[in-house]
Amino acid sequence: MNDPGFPPAEDIELSSPDVTEDDIEAVAAVLRTRWLSLGPKLAEFEQAVAELVGRRWGVAVNSGTSALHLIVRALGLRDGDEVITTPYSFIASANCLLYERAVPKFVDVDPTTLNLDPESVEEAITARTKAVLGVDVFGLPADWPRLEEIAERHSLALIEDSCEALGARRRTQDGGWQCAGSFGEAAAFAFYPNKQITTGEGGVIVTDDDELAQVCRSLRNQGRNNNGEWVEHARLGYNYRISDMNCALGLAQMKRLDEMLASRRAVATWYAESLGDYPAVALPAELADCERSWFVYVVRLLGCPTREALRDVMGKLRAQGIACSNYFPCIHLQPFYRELFGYREGDFPVAERVSAQSLALPFSSRLSRERVRRVADTLREVLQQLGLDATSRVRGAED
Ligand SMILES: *Cc1c(COP(=O)(O)O)cnc(C)c1O
Repeated sequence: MNDPGFPPAEDIELSSPDVTEDDIEAVAAVLRTRWLSLGPKLAEFEQAVAELVGRRWGVAVNSGTSALHLIVRALGLRDGDEVITTPYSFIASANCLLYERAVPKFVDVDPTTLNLDPESVEEAITARTKAVLGVDVFGLPADWPRLEEIAERHSLALIEDSCEALGARRRTQDGGWQCAGSFGEAAAFAFYPNKQITTGEGGVIVTDDDELAQVCRSLRNQGRNNNGEWVEHARLGYNYRISDMNCALGLAQMKRLDEMLASRRAVATWYAESLGDYPAVALPAELADCERSWFVYVVRLLGCPTREALRDVMGKLRAQGIACSNYFPCIHLQPFYRELFGYREGDFPVAERVSAQSLALPFSSRLSRERVRRVADTLREVLQQLGLDATSRVRGAED
């Protein structure tokens, strides 16, 4: 119904790419050369992302999902290997394990950060556990220092899904900053048009591991050996290549990253101004030791008791021309996960409760202050009309 492939009729969109004439010119310039794929823009783009994050290598591919898949594959995760991960994420962060027949072992999330709860991670480790896959949900870095410590102590690989967190940072012990995407063995970024920067479609793997980078390069290009021998294939690979037009767009966008992140932060501030004094709505968490990279603006409707009530709210917002969505429906309750693994409602109560109250509001670097105010005012009206503006909660008062 709200498939992003079919733009909704709402006049305030859920997201909007930020593409300038200079960006368009950068793409057009590639088309005037003979290097439309595996050309110079590929290496430049990879380097730009790796440098920003503070990693040695970047390997660009055709989506964030491909980036995650290649990390899982290159780490050698396979049939029956358990990987501890979060049910409160975009489905690709768990699907990438299923592609290699590894088993996602979901654990519940922290009710404030909505990221993996390190304590639950440690409790879930078994003899079959091979890795932990954490997600920087909504651009807020997960608790990587603790996850790294746990992974190290149990000899587990650590994978960072940073697809929502380009430019996010965590404070280090010496008071500096460390970027999302620089934790664990490798991380994935994604550049679909609703992300902080876009390549149209695209993703980048970042890692400090020379061999992992080398294997990912080979896997994205039909298992070729990277020795210049185009017809020799060392392993089963894929065509996950990204074109130089996509990379040129990504490079042009990377040059404006600071500016775009600042605009997004300003929009988030306007939302906080408009909704901060409204007890029925909980704003996204701010942590003293983290700098969120604003990806979406997801609020929690504290007076909203059920998924059905949330659906009513969304229907009324849309009827008033305001696009919105429920980020995220829990992965373990998706039909094929229920079928494959027998998950049921109640398995991960924090994630489920948060999910039933989570509303993504329109958000992009181009949203005006006046439109933010209109969204906020309309949300208040709708909650009042539906009698969902009470602050007392039907259940879940403990968080
Ligand atoms: C967007 C996203 C992905 C996948 O990115 P695509 O480029 O759409 O394949 C993976 N994980 C998370 C958490 C995401 O938000």
